[in-house]
Amino acid sequence: MTTCPLCNQTDCRDFPIFYDFDRKRFQAKQCAHCSFIYLDPRLTSEELKLLYSDEYFLHDGADFGAHSPTDYESAAIRGSVKFPEILGWIRRYKPSGEFFEIGCGMGYFLNYARSNGFAVSGIEYAELGVRTCQTKFGLNVQRCSFEDLATQTERYDVMFLGDVLEHLIQPLEMVRKAHSMLKPSGVFAAEVPSMFNSITGRLAVAGMRTLRTKKKMGMPPYHVNEFTPRTLRAVIERAGFKHCVIVQRIKPPSAITLRGSLFEKTMKKILHYPNYGLTKSLGIFGDRLLGIGIK
Ligand SMILES: [Zn+2]
Repeated sequence: MTTCPLCNQTDCRDFPIFYDFDRKRFQAKQCAHCSFIYLDPRLTSEELKLLYSDEYFLHDGADFGAHSPTDYESAAIRGSVKFPEILGWIRRYKPSGEFFEIGCGMGYFLNYARSNGFAVSGIEYAELGVRTCQTKFGLNVQRCSFEDLATQTERYDVMFLGDVLEHLIQPLEMVRKAHSMLKPSGVFAAEVPSMFNSITGRLAVAGMRTLRTKKKMGMPPYHVNEFTPRTLRAVIERAGFKHCVIVQRIKPPSAITLRGSLFEKTMKKILHYPNYGLTKSLGIFGDRLLGIGIK
């Protein structure tokens, strides 16, 4: 039985989503102790290799849930909103210095951090991402997984992970590793989706639990963990950070991805407007979380 990747307990209940991949079912579980949501079983290294082959970057379209070149291009255009907000939070605690990004994709954010005065470098697992970082932006990016990265103790001022933690089989170990790579008072920052923290997500889970149904996710199991504000804080604090801030963010209504049935799409669209207002004014029900830890 899979133990909770955050607190190592085995007590859990089914969370009402699952994935089918490579003739296997991956059921989401929620830990009874710390409420962390994770897929069971965990993916094997063979399954991960299959998942992160070139297809990861080369498929387009929201229905597949992939991070294609076009997705990154459009993300970069939307970045005019998102990048300053995220980097703004990081700069509150560390205005300059050595900035390292884990899983930097095609390098748009790393390039943005460089243009704002940071000395930047990073790693990326997908070959196409690494090539683009090097040829398009001339960035110092190596092809490597976070697991295989040799630890350089107290080397960096900022360690950033954008849309990475939800993909990692051992998220806590990786945040601990990031902690060890930071200088004293260094800043750890991780951005993750939090689809079950939004109003639509909460209603969907409550509805499925009431009706005792589960939703088959129409994409491969890229997200092996689902974070909430509570569990993102827990992973940062357990990794040893002295001070932790969770910022709830939300995509503008123009930028949301609509998946599922017409009913699901309509509900999501209608509810996103009040949700957007609540997240912007009160910092609740965000569909994106930025977790910051100060060493
Ligand atoms: Zn747990």
